[in-house]
Amino acid sequence: MKYIVLDMEWNQAHSSRCVDSLPMPLSGEIIQIGAVKIGEDGAVEDTLRLNIKPCYYTKLHSGVRKLTGITAEDLANGLLFPDAAHDLKKWCGEEFTLFIWGFDDIAVLGENMAIWNLDFSWIPPCYNLQFIYCAQTGSEKRQWTLTYAAEVLGITLDIPAHDALNDALYTAALLQKMDIKRGMAEYDPADLLTLDEQFKVVDHIVLSGFATKQEAQASRKVRTIPCPICGERMKYDGFYRQNKSKRVSLPACSLHGDYFCRIQFLKCENGSYRVLRTLYEADEKAKKYYTEKRDAALAAEEKAKASAKAAARTSVHRRHKKVKESKQA
Ligand SMILES: [Zn+2]
Repeated sequence: MKYIVLDMEWNQAHSSRCVDSLPMPLSGEIIQIGAVKIGEDGAVEDTLRLNIKPCYYTKLHSGVRKLTGITAEDLANGLLFPDAAHDLKKWCGEEFTLFIWGFDDIAVLGENMAIWNLDFSWIPPCYNLQFIYCAQTGSEKRQWTLTYAAEVLGITLDIPAHDALNDALYTAALLQKMDIKRGMAEYDPADLLTLDEQFKVVDHIVLSGFATKQEAQASRKVRTIPCPICGERMKYDGFYRQNKSKRVSLPACSLHGDYFCRIQFLKCENGSYRVLRTLYEADEKAKKYYTEKRDAALAAEEKAKASAKAAARTSVHRRHKKVKESKQA
């Protein structure tokens, strides 16, 4: 079994207009894939860097250019995403375990796969190496940057960051410093990263101009979902948490039946929020997916409520004890 470390760079939309005209969510269009293959003995066996020509966000965002050093010329000579995905699959081989630093890459990879309608069943659930790093260095479980973690573990590679292959090499160097077998054994399966399942898109809109995420969540504009055929305001139970930035629901039109709906909150560069709302056909697969997410979200809410109650009880108990003690004194 090989270990494969993956990293990606992506281009951002240049204007909101090019986001609004897309058929489905695309928070970033992948323009570079870097990957490192590590053998069982922990040695690097092979590396891969693929430049990709963007087809949706075609103008290279100046911030992305500055950060990554990727030029418009690199991209003009790049592969089309489906060809790059094909090459990556071939390069990965049959049996491998996937590692990535952070959450974002896998989410963006899923969107790129979806917009090109590519099969990604070959991509296994992926370990977020950040969690293994946190567990093994006793760090707080949060999103440490790659450069910070490399510094902590005393890794100095003489290569610039924010190139997909270089970042994959940094991540691979971190992996080599960890007890990866133990990290995998102790890893919470709920924290494995998977690409969003694909469903058939029926309608997609972008709503923008929310000052905060809370405002976006509460917005009537976001919560009023018209049927894409007749415009009737559809009824639904609620939105349930899929992950940190996504919520799912199952709205229904009295005439045209169920739809599967996903909303995604995105923070813009100016700090405001936009919401992507996508309606999908509610086939069996989508309904099953929705039910699973809803039940998991409800169970998590119950658990959180129960522990809040327990915490409140403890604090009341402590206060009583204190009062008692002070009276006795
Ligand atoms: Zn309808």
